[in-house]
Amino acid sequence: MRPLRLGDDIDDYCAKCKRITNHSIVSFLEHEPAKVRCRTCYSEHAYLHETRPPTKKVRRK
Ligand SMILES: [Zn+2]
Repeated sequence: MRPLRLGDDIDDYCAKCKRITNHSIVSFLEHEPAKVRCRTCYSEHAYLHETRPPTKKVRRK
């Protein structure tokens, strides 16, 4: 595993795009990405570990 660095590409969930998109790492907190910027809409947000925020709706299969 190579260590992540500032500006690296990382996949994460974007609330604006409403899907997993390519992001760039903007800041770190204790060796974990803290803030990322979506490469599609350029919005910055906290790194969500590729998970979408919990919603009350449960999607059925
Ligand atoms: Zn986005």
